[in-house]
Amino acid sequence: MSLSNQTKHIELECINCHTRVPLDKNISGCPNCGENILEARYDLSQLNVQQWLQELKRRGDRLWRYHEVLPIYDTANIVTLGEGGTPLIKSKALAASLGLKNLYIKDERQGPTGSFKDRQATVAVSALREMGVDELAVASTGNVAIAYAAYCAQAGIKLWAFFPSLAPGDKMREAALYGAEVMKITGTYDQTKELAAHFARTKGVFLDKGIKSVAAIEAMKTMAYEIAEQLGQQMDGGEHWRTPDWFLQGVSGGMGPIGVGKGFREMYDFGLVDKMPSMGLVQSTGCAPMVEAFDRGQRIATPIDTPQTIIATLATGNPGRAYELLYDYVQEYGGSFVSATDEEAFNAIRILARQDGISVEPATGVTFAGLFKMVREGIIKPDDVVVVNCSGHTMPVETQILGDQWQRQVDLSQQSQTPVMPEEGLLSALDQMDKLVRRIVVVEDNPDAARLMSRILRAKGNFDVHIATDGAKGIEIIREIRPDLVITDLMMPDVDGFTVIDTMKSDENMSHIPIIVVTAKELTAKERARLSGEITLLQKGSFLDQDFVRELVEALE
Ligand SMILES: *Cc1c(COP(=O)(O)O)cnc(C)c1O
Ligand SMILES: [Zn+2]
Repeated sequence: MSLSNQTKHIELECINCHTRVPLDKNISGCPNCGENILEARYDLSQLNVQQWLQELKRRGDRLWRYHEVLPIYDTANIVTLGEGGTPLIKSKALAASLGLKNLYIKDERQGPTGSFKDRQATVAVSALREMGVDELAVASTGNVAIAYAAYCAQAGIKLWAFFPSLAPGDKMREAALYGAEVMKITGTYDQTKELAAHFARTKGVFLDKGIKSVAAIEAMKTMAYEIAEQLGQQMDGGEHWRTPDWFLQGVSGGMGPIGVGKGFREMYDFGLVDKMPSMGLVQSTGCAPMVEAFDRGQRIATPIDTPQTIIATLATGNPGRAYELLYDYVQEYGGSFVSATDEEAFNAIRILARQDGISVEPATGVTFAGLFKMVREGIIKPDDVVVVNCSGHTMPVETQILGDQWQRQVDLSQQSQTPVMPEEGLLSALDQMDKLVRRIVVVEDNPDAARLMSRILRAKGNFDVHIATDGAKGIEIIREIRPDLVITDLMMPDVDGFTVIDTMKSDENMSHIPIIVVTAKELTAKERARLSGEITLLQKGSFLDQDFVRELVEALE
């Protein structure tokens, strides 16, 4: 049973003194204590949660399916472009190379304007329409302005979009295409926000209040609802909803994780989930005020005046109250603040694109680089259920990611004078490569990890890869084909990796073959001693394809 528009009742509650006031666009803070962050509260006493769950199954999978817990009264005011309901993709290759069993990617790239800001735009613009606002100013590093521009176009609301000059030109052009007035400000993002606020005050235009906007937090919380419902379907066959152990996101203003935290809190209070997730909050090293404050044990962040990162999306130098809220969250429910450099982010983009076929913008690259670190440092454990907010699509940044060596040119127009590819050279190179064919046996019981390794090997060189899915088969194949190299896992049922190695060492036909051990297990000193000698050890999660190939080439030489 859904609530009819007439029975819905929404109030705003002060996060400090818990005073409640009715929802109203002119409220800009708590009338009692002056706190400027208020949270939406819904009177759901009329709502039977079990019936609601049944009804949700019959609704489409878009964002507004959760309208009972969103801040508008009349669904006729909804401005929608088909946002939300993005897929939760279970990673295979990347998960295997990190040694994670349950890595899920919430693919927010698949929103109408290519980032999770579509959620914010649909909820904020619908609420503004309901309140009769017809002109809006927003400061943005790109994605918010693009999303608002599209939704404002549909709602007939005039948008003034203020961009810092660091924002990619393509993003400004996209906003202009939807009819927004684009204002490019030579200054930092924080200065741009101040200017937009000043403009709105003097012109009497409604200002989007970012993190302090009720609609923004309510919008972001829909990610939490979708994740809990989708994880429940994928891991538990839809029996119940499920909270992941971790939610990870690249953080600038902090709206995403704060909204997601609120969503899980609500679901917990409704009895829909049984715990809260830990938050993995990743910032760009050149603009990481939250990470730096957290490392110093401080609840108040020191603003970064001039961010040193080319990743404009994550260039909020002064996180203000958002950091306090996230700090409190991490203290109460667990989590970690980590940073990653621009270079690490670009590298992560390449790895994610090649392994899982997902191309992301640099702000999302930062998140994945943070994931790699948290796995390597043991903060995230192999059995943890991890959901990464894959927040935005790559489009405007290919030059930084690929450099200028990404295409091979073949010019046929001048063929008669200078052949571009001297045929003889090519043939002799192929010939040489043929001589270099190496036979490799991979002993690995996890099929995803085995597939990943053979894919990396085949992409990087002329390797003839044989896969054995258990130790006994491994020994049989090694004995038969006498490979140039053996790559083995350690923990396998029945005949494990230690046995494979011991068997090889004690047989003179196999004892000379180099071995690389790839394991997800922390080894004890005793186990390490058993592996000493000529064996190369790679910890799953601590290597990615380049390191793997480097070790491999060294072992072969
Ligand atoms: C806005 C944005 C972020 C940062 O979002 P916050 O939750 O406000 O910190 C990260 N990635 C992308 C793609 C974004 O558009
Ligand atoms: Zn108050």
